[in-house]
Amino acid sequence: MAVKAIKYGVVGYSGRMGQEVAKLFDRSGHELVLTSDLAGTECKAKPDVLVDFSSHAALAGTIELCGVHKAALVIGTTALGEEHFARLRDLGKETAVVQSFNFATGVNVLKMILREYAPLLSDWDLEIEETHHNKKKDAPSGTAILLRDAAGRNCPTHSLRLGGVPGDHTAHFANDGEVLSLTHRALSRNVFALGALRAALFAAHAQKGLYTFEDVLKHGM
Ligand code: NAD
Repeated sequence: MAVKAIKYGVVGYSGRMGQEVAKLFDRSGHELVLTSDLAGTECKAKPDVLVDFSSHAALAGTIELCGVHKAALVIGTTALGEEHFARLRDLGKETAVVQSFNFATGVNVLKMILREYAPLLSDWDLEIEETHHNKKKDAPSGTAILLRDAAGRNCPTHSLRLGGVPGDHTAHFANDGEVLSLTHRALSRNVFALGALRAALFAAHAQKGLYTFEDVLKHGM
């Protein structure tokens, strides 16, 4: 079935992820109508969906833009706290919002595996290790927090900041006789843009509400 082209905006347009999103969405036939970043906002038409990979400091502005344009939101920005989630829940009463600290399909499947099976290893040690490029501002990564929450334990996390790594995560389980390590590696930022595109196509037609990327995967988008 042909996918209907959407009009979209990017918050964090000049950033690494913003550029990756714009490249993929444009290649897929969708129309960029709004850009926003620290340099300001430019808008040439009403977007159906805003895609935000920027900073938690941009959230108030992003929510305002969604209100003005009655646009849905896909947000991958990390380092969001409870006050930011409260605002996203409020926005979800007005429009469709998809939030995920990681838009890679494999990470979301790893999250489901941990939620289901980590309780079977509740008497094993668990530590989460993440490696990202040396420009990443937050630590631990949003994904390490997401995996820790899925495992249901406040386990230690370890952050390495090395070169240009897009994002590696491992959940290490061990007892006296066994080690079980579950690893996800993103080979490029394109995987996050692909997930954001899937989420944007879902959000453009979804009922209002706050969704996870897992919801998008389960809807078969
Ligand atoms: P970056 O530093 O390359 O780009 C940040 C962008 O946000 C820039 O365009 C900057 O101008 C803009 N920005 C910063 N503060 C702003 C503000 N107050 N108002 C408006 N715009 C502002 O960062 P990046 O590597 O592209 O990552 C962006 C975010 O996406 C980070 O939070 C990162 O952790 C997250 N991320 C999420 C996923 C995911 O799958 N959820 C994947 C990769 C990165």
